[in-house]
Amino acid sequence: MIENVVSAALPVNENLRIPRNRLEPVDLNDNRGRISIVTGAHGDELEGQFVCYEVIRRINRNKEALKGTIDIYPVLNPLGMDSGVRTVPKIDMDLNRMFPGSQDGTMMDKVTAGIVESLLGSDICIDVHASDTFVKEIPQARISDEFEQMMVPYAKYLNVDLIWINATATVHESTLAYSLCKLGVPALVMEMGLGNRINQEYGLQVVDGIFHLMKKLGLWEGDDISVKEPMVITNDDIEFIRAAESGIFISCAENNTFVKQGDKIGEIIDPLAGEVIYEVKAGCEGLLFTMREHPLAYEGALLARIIRGKEAAE
Ligand SMILES: [Zn+2]
Repeated sequence: MIENVVSAALPVNENLRIPRNRLEPVDLNDNRGRISIVTGAHGDELEGQFVCYEVIRRINRNKEALKGTIDIYPVLNPLGMDSGVRTVPKIDMDLNRMFPGSQDGTMMDKVTAGIVESLLGSDICIDVHASDTFVKEIPQARISDEFEQMMVPYAKYLNVDLIWINATATVHESTLAYSLCKLGVPALVMEMGLGNRINQEYGLQVVDGIFHLMKKLGLWEGDDISVKEPMVITNDDIEFIRAAESGIFISCAENNTFVKQGDKIGEIIDPLAGEVIYEVKAGCEGLLFTMREHPLAYEGALLARIIRGKEAAE
């Protein structure tokens, strides 16, 4: 059933609507729980669109196997997505810093509060993100350290390459996942791929994980799919590599590969002088798990991240 969980009037005869597709078991008396999959909080992150499509497609192909409610929210920030921008247009604010919202506040406070209210009662909520337009990420779950114990067991079912505890601002206060955890709804953030792109391989990997989780929660009776054993890391395990000079970044290393200390992973070039102005090298041995895709690099820009001493998940 497709319905709008939030509808707010826009200035001239339009409405901001947050749609949801609710998939339910054929036998409504045999409903064993509820998973919510949300995405599109950032309008320039499209990986989740393929995930939503593929989850619904697989369920519709085998409706008898569904034993719970699966709520799919493809777009939490429809104004941003329709105009292809990250933030909420006009107010230029990050939707994922506006939770849990309030029914007594502005229109956007009411919108975020409405999203949260509609998600209460879920056994778990997965908020799918797609990095940004600058760096490519391997599939990962991100969890606030405050909710590590509650969320790591779920994250291990999701076929991700890694679980990152406390990944910067993406899991902190004012995000949807944090707000839901505070309200007692287990919630985590998934990151993968690159903004404005769809990596089908990553999407299929994560969808396999979602069905494995559904199976573990007793909501799916289809064939089980074996999943990766993710590594669990914290900020202390990560080496950040940033641009020492402004210029054009040309990478020469593949994401999700093992590098040794001193290995060259790219160059910053000066296209006016025709020279390499900075050689980007791995500062430690480990797994390259974030790689810059956007060539414009200002001094201090994130170029890569390495997990010290770890190899890729099997
Ligand atoms: Zn995002």
